[in-house]
Order: sequence, then structure tokens, then C-alpha cells
Amino acid sequence: MYISIIFEICSLVYIGILSVIYFRKKRINNIENKIYSNLVVQVILILLVEFICCLTGLLNLDSHSIFVNVISRILLSLMIFWALSFYYYIYAITHESENNKLLKNKTKNTIITYLLSFIVIMLPLNYYKDNMITYSFGLGVIYTYVIATICIIFEIFHIIKNFSNIKKEKIYPLILLLILIVLMVLTKLINPGINLIASSFAIVIFLMYFTIENPDLKMIEQLNIARDQAEKANHAKSDFLSSMSHEIRTPLNAIVGFSQALTEEDLPPQAKDEVKDIMMASETLLEIVNGILDISKIEANKLEIVNTEYNFNLILEELVSLTKARLGEKPLEFKYRFDPSIPPYLYGDKVRVKQIILNLLTNAVKYTKEGWISFEVNAIQKDGICRLIISVEDSGIGIKPESIDKLFTKFERLDIEKNNTIEGTGLGLAITKKLLDLMGGQVVVQSVYGQGSKFTVAIDQKIVTNPTTVVESTQVSVENLDLSTKKILVVDDNKINLKVAARLLSDYHCQIETLESGIECIDQIKAGNTYDLILMDDMMPKLSGVETFHQLQQIPGFSIPTIALTANAISGMKEKYLQEGFHDYLAKPIDKKELYTVLAKFLVQK
Ligand code: ADP
Repeated sequence: MYISIIFEICSLVYIGILSVIYFRKKRINNIENKIYSNLVVQVILILLVEFICCLTGLLNLDSHSIFVNVISRILLSLMIFWALSFYYYIYAITHESENNKLLKNKTKNTIITYLLSFIVIMLPLNYYKDNMITYSFGLGVIYTYVIATICIIFEIFHIIKNFSNIKKEKIYPLILLLILIVLMVLTKLINPGINLIASSFAIVIFLMYFTIENPDLKMIEQLNIARDQAEKANHAKSDFLSSMSHEIRTPLNAIVGFSQALTEEDLPPQAKDEVKDIMMASETLLEIVNGILDISKIEANKLEIVNTEYNFNLILEELVSLTKARLGEKPLEFKYRFDPSIPPYLYGDKVRVKQIILNLLTNAVKYTKEGWISFEVNAIQKDGICRLIISVEDSGIGIKPESIDKLFTKFERLDIEKNNTIEGTGLGLAITKKLLDLMGGQVVVQSVYGQGSKFTVAIDQKIVTNPTTVVESTQVSVENLDLSTKKILVVDDNKINLKVAARLLSDYHCQIETLESGIECIDQIKAGNTYDLILMDDMMPKLSGVETFHQLQQIPGFSIPTIALTANAISGMKEKYLQEGFHDYLAKPIDKKELYTVLAKFLVQK
């Protein structure tokens, strides 16, 4: 008797403290939490009522008095309430994805719970007293046990049925709680004199708090779910952008290709101007698409840094001429100075180094109306490494100090009111920063709003003392390439792409043959047709370019140089195609200069 009272008091104290901590903490408002909150309140009520029951024995109250009668019925009804709530709790945990169902049926479940708990008050109860303890028995008690047992059976059923859906960290606590409840009911059945039901409920609540229901754990769990969902959404978005960009590149190939070809035709002056505008607009569109492709590849960790030996002086020359071309009619002075001690040959990702610097130079031109732009490169050499210190400064619109942090966030454009006439996507600097991170470089921004900005980048590149594989670029001049005796095969499933390629090749007066599938190409070669060069699209239905090429290689005596042609123009692709055995790679839209380089490389030196 006294032991029961001591247990009640102890349980009341620790559940009291726990409920204060629990209800003061910030909690997530989900169904599980709501049921647990109800369980905590119910257990306090049960403890209090059971404590009063024990007191009636201690005070030697008549076991048939109305007070004892009422208090015992309240206790049984509260226990039924608790058992049903615990069942709903288990249901919520084992059916996390279907918790809406529980919410929808909330009113129905509440009515059932109240009804089942209320019935016990009506049922007959008998009492007897032994050694200061009042025992109740009869239909009311049997009814309570039946409800508790049914709840436990259903709880076990749900746990077993949905075992694989339950979160790992919840399985052991759940099993432990169930064992505890079963033990508790059995103890009460075997020895009704032990009044420990409420204390056991309290232990269950206590264990639940520390294993499953701690609001901090729940908060972390929710944060993880939110993070996973955000990551998934971001991936889905990147995949979508990447496939969209790829789809856009194919029609762009036609626009860029045909407008490039048209600029060389003898057109009336107005038409020539318009074709030039089409070309410029399509080039801008291509830059945007490339930017989207780059950022989505970077975010999917698919962008690789491809290191090769390269001539840095050539890159600087190209950057200067590209920037001069971009200046157009703008009243801007373009100053540049390169440290003469920069080693001419370096080892690194030349495409990305050029892209980073070009982004800065393009921005300087874009965001400066008048005044000057200065491009400077210095070098610090140590232990075979050359640290390139590249700075691009302008006397342009400048950046507000509070906006500097946002500069490298993708799709973030600053000062929109002022910049709304300047084209841009807000991707350039985000890509620049990510590329620098991948290459172990750094960028520093200094700016005075209204006066100008200075972007300084530091990139380490290995110094190459004896260049071996560096290929110098050649000047494009269609005239000095006579291919009239050459026969070129173009394979692409898209008819317009075939027309574009044929149009670009027609400048060289070579014989051109086009085929729409890899299978036809294999048949032609097997039939004994020979060509001097094959341009092979990769993404073709049925047989891809790579598969076609592998089958061609199996044909005895096949040795025609084959160039991969693809709209999938991300960095690293060239290396992928070279690894597959292709002789070279051309990105779509086909760039005239690159096409020239390939033709010169494979058809003239022969
Ligand atoms: P975009 O130029 O396509 O908008 P960027 O990522 O290259 O995207 O630049 C992000 C923003 O940073 C620009 O929209 C512009 O507001 C600001 N910015 C970048 N470079 C400069 C610069 N040299 N001077 C002033 N503002 C700049």
C-alpha cells in the first residue's frame, strides 16, 4: 500500500517536471505530438485519481461509499481513454504517410473514445477491502481489460504490418513500450493489489519523451526532412533545366548555323544588319543556356575540372580581342597590362580559367557606361606553381556595400531599377565562384557605389617548362582550306541539324553525304563506301553515336577519323568522347572556328 503511494508521488513529481519542460519547449505541430501531449495530460490525471484512490484506503473510507464508487469509475474511464489514445499514437507512428487519414477521422475517433470511456461509468462495479486497499471488480473492470487488450493486439498488428515503414530510430522504443504495457496489464491481472498502473503509464510517457518525443529530436527530424525535400526539389529543378537547355541547343544550332552562313551571303545591307542581330541574339541565348547547363552540372557535382597543358598567352590574346569586340560603340577606354614574367605554358583547366576571366570582363563592360576598364594579370611563382593574380577594374556603376554578399548567389541581380536595361541572368558570378571553389581559387570584390568596382581573382596553375601536347590555334580563313577532293559524312537523326552541317561544310566545296541513323551509317561502311571524315551525332534513337562508332570500329579496315557531334556541351565531354575512341569533338551549335580547326587538323595534314 505504502509502496504504491510512494510510487504515485514519485511519478507525479517527475511527470510534473517533464510536462513543464515539454510544454515550454517549441514543438512541431504534427499529429504525433498532439497525441503525445494528450497522453501526458491524461497520465497526470490518472496519477492524481489513483493517488486519491490510495488515500481512500489509507483514510479507511467505506469501500461502498459514493465517493469511492465515483473515483474508481473515473479512474477506469481515464485508463480506457489513455489506452485508446496510445493506440492512435502507435497508428500515427506506423502510418506516417497516411496521417491525413487520422486527422480526417479526428471527430469520429474522439466520439468513439469518449463513448467507450463513458460506458464504463454505467457498468456495474463491486468493491471489497483488504489490508486497507479497496479492490474493484465486476463487469466494469472486465470491460476495461477487454478494451486494453484489443488496443494492444491492434498495436502489435500495426507494428508488424508496417514494420518496414517505421523509422529505424523509433522501432526499439516502440517495442519496449509495448512490452512494458503488456507486463503492466499482466501484473495487474495476476495481482490486483499492486496499484502501479498509473506509475507504469508515467514510465512509458517518460521513456517516450527521451526516445521519440523529445521536441528537439523532432525538430532535427523535421529539419532533416525539410532539407531532403529541398535537395530533391533542387535536383529536380537542375535536371529539368539541364534537359531543357539541351533541348534548346538543338534548334539554336539551326539559328546560329544558318545566320552564320547568311552573313557571308551577298545580302542587301538591311538584311545583312538583321542577320547580324539574329546572330548576336542567338549567341546571347546560347550563353544563357550554357550558364544554366553549367550551374546545374555544378550543383549535381557533375562538373569536372579538366586539366591540360595550355598556352596562357593565347588565352590572354583571345580575352583581349573578345573584350574589344564587346565594347562595341561604348565610349570606354580598355587598358590591359600583363606581367612579362608569366610563364607562357601552364597546366590547368584552360576553358574554365578563360570562362572566369571572361565573366569578369563581360560584367565590367556591361556595368560601365563610360570611362575605362582595366585588365591586369600578375604572377607569383613558387615551387613550380604559378599563382595568377587577375584583376578586372572598371569606372562603372559600382555595387552597394550591403549587396556585395549577394553577388555570388545564383539568379541574383542587384540594383534592378538601375540595371533593367542591361541583359543578364545573375548566373555569371555564381558560376565564377563555384568554378574557383573547384579549382581552389579565390575572388575578392572591392567597390564604391557610383564610382566603380574591382574584382581580383587568384588561381594556382602548374608551370609547364617543356610543353609537349599544346596545340596552337589557327586563324580561320575558309579560302586557305581546299577540300574539294574530300568526302565528308554527317550522321544526325535531326534533319535540320543535317542541313546546318551541310550548309557550314559547303563553304569548303567538299562532297557531303548525310544519313539519319547510326544503322544506315554502319550499312554504308559495310557496303564499302569510304569517306575522309565522319561527323557523328551522339544522341540518336535506337543506336547512339557512341554505340555506332564502336560497331564501326569492329569493321575490318575501318580507319576513318570520326568526330563526335553533340548538344551536350558541358566541360569534360570532350575527354569523354576521346576516351570512347573518337578522334575529336564538336559541340552544337557548331562554331565555325572549331569546325575549321577540326577540318584543317584531319583533312589537310593528310
Ligand atoms: P548578370 O551580369 O548576368 O546579371 P552576374 O552573376 O555576372 O550576373 O552578376 C550579378 C550581379 O552583380 C549583376 O546583376 C550586377 O548587379 C552585379 N555586378 C556584377 N559585376 C558588376 C560590376 N563590374 N559592376 C557593377 N555591378 C556588377
